[in-house]
Amino acid sequence: MSHVLAAVAWPYANGPRHIGHVSGFGVPSDVFARYMRMAGHDVLMVSGTDEHGTPIQVQADAEGVSPRELADRYNRVIVEDLHGLGLSYDLFTRTTTGNHYAVVQELFEGMYRNGYIVPKTTMGAISPSTGRTLPDRYIEGTCPICGYDSARGDQCDNCGNQLDPVDLINPKSKINGETPKFVETEHFFLDLPALADVLRRWLDGREGWRPNVLRFSRNLLDDLQPRAITRDLEWGVPIPLDGWRERGDKRIYVWFDAVIGYLSASVEWARRSGDPEAWRKWWSTDGEGKDSRAYYFMGKDNIVFHSVIWPALLAGYSGEGAKDGEPGRLGRLNLPTEVVSSEFLTMEGRKFSSSRRVVIYVRDFLERYDADALRYFIAVAGPENNDTDFTWAEFLRRNNDELVAGWGNLVNRSISMAAKNFGAIPEIDPAGLTEADEALLAVARAGFATVGDLIARHRQKQAIGEAMKVVAEANRYLSEQAPWKLKDEADKPRMGTILHVALQVVSDANTLLTPFLPHSAQKVHELLGGTGVHAPMPQIQQVDDLDGGPAYPVLTGDYTVGARWESVPVEAGRPLAAPKPVFRKLDPSIVDEELARLTG
Ligand SMILES: [Zn+2]
Repeated sequence: MSHVLAAVAWPYANGPRHIGHVSGFGVPSDVFARYMRMAGHDVLMVSGTDEHGTPIQVQADAEGVSPRELADRYNRVIVEDLHGLGLSYDLFTRTTTGNHYAVVQELFEGMYRNGYIVPKTTMGAISPSTGRTLPDRYIEGTCPICGYDSARGDQCDNCGNQLDPVDLINPKSKINGETPKFVETEHFFLDLPALADVLRRWLDGREGWRPNVLRFSRNLLDDLQPRAITRDLEWGVPIPLDGWRERGDKRIYVWFDAVIGYLSASVEWARRSGDPEAWRKWWSTDGEGKDSRAYYFMGKDNIVFHSVIWPALLAGYSGEGAKDGEPGRLGRLNLPTEVVSSEFLTMEGRKFSSSRRVVIYVRDFLERYDADALRYFIAVAGPENNDTDFTWAEFLRRNNDELVAGWGNLVNRSISMAAKNFGAIPEIDPAGLTEADEALLAVARAGFATVGDLIARHRQKQAIGEAMKVVAEANRYLSEQAPWKLKDEADKPRMGTILHVALQVVSDANTLLTPFLPHSAQKVHELLGGTGVHAPMPQIQQVDDLDGGPAYPVLTGDYTVGARWESVPVEAGRPLAAPKPVFRKLDPSIVDEELARLTG
């Protein structure tokens, strides 16, 4: 057993989640965490909503609400979306907690003391008519990179690059249209060049990463520049240095605070668990955390923050860069074991876009379809290694031909036949098992090693393919053995044996599919006469802020219960009832209905 951190990218709290958001890393990180727990590891899975920064401030301004009110609204919506999918976070929190502020400021101070955060004079914008600082979001101009004419002072929404207001071509104040004046102002920068060597050594020691992620990360190291980590902005974490703490117009940049969320959420989880130091088991490079492993899950547009920025912060805080230094009070911290980046999901051949209505929100999807139907599609056809396309026709086909006709059919026919003829799980005939019986049981047992190893190496498409092969073998076995023909009293012991074997394989296949399809796995467990929790589910809990702020909802759960990753013998004589179907066959008309919704 070892300690495994599953660190999942933080969704930005400016709207509900769509299925593109959850298919790249949301569901895959849950599959990984569920499997690792079943295999006996001590998993800590954390994330939360990312709530600071200009876009939320801009959206709040437009709606006439405070940024906190906007963040509250979407924090709750996102918590409900992720809950609906059964994502088993130990803690899904947010970045506006007192705990998060304290951990961010601790990392800032530690890095500053070690010399990896340095002040630098840059050009900042002021309004010539009032003489006051102009926050980044109130400056607009042409993007120097792509030429987009409505780029904001800190970011271009067209090409996605981070910008500095002074670089905008033809900058204008959005408040009154005047041309801002640029004067010298001080900001803080992350000294990335001083951390380049430690990052390179760390990357050189990585094994098993998806090759494109490793290549991309190495290339980023070739041109590391100091990077601004504070902005002219009121909405964010205050700068924890004398003379800066009380200033209302300068804040820590949102990407710097959000990436620290992995650590602050772990600390918050520990404080809530009753052992405030327990987070160290997943983070400390010495002592109890020494053998821990940390896996980070995100979309490909976020690789730089996880393979360069975050390890740079951890190394700088630990005092491991070219300027040396001493670790702060949190001690030396583990760098990522693996950065697991996914590609993008498109939708009917187009990019997801809320504004152009090319979107399916998680909540709308779950109103009409089951969570496991989506989880299945993501597992077999999601953007693991390539951009992939969601189409309703393909969703229908996967659901009806594979989930319902393959797995659902196996569960349904084997359990109903046993219930009808025996009322319970039948016994194995004293005459023993045939070669065909033994062969099928062996295929199912072998699945535990194969499927488990593939999930552990983030090859989930192959993993679910192997699990579904067991299902296909079992369906073939039933067709060949045709137990329904053994109606004579003399044949009944053989019929019982076949159904016992089939139910054993249903039980094994159900365990193999549990990380992917936890909701239906619980149902199949109960259909087999099992009791108790087979696949634990997250819960939404309203909690108090540990440091006196307002209460908020979190996702959490007790995942110490549930099935282990092993074949458990089914018990002859355990009563069975006629099953209700586990999966829903969908009518082909949903394709046209959904496409009509899409075009509005
Ligand atoms: Zn641009």
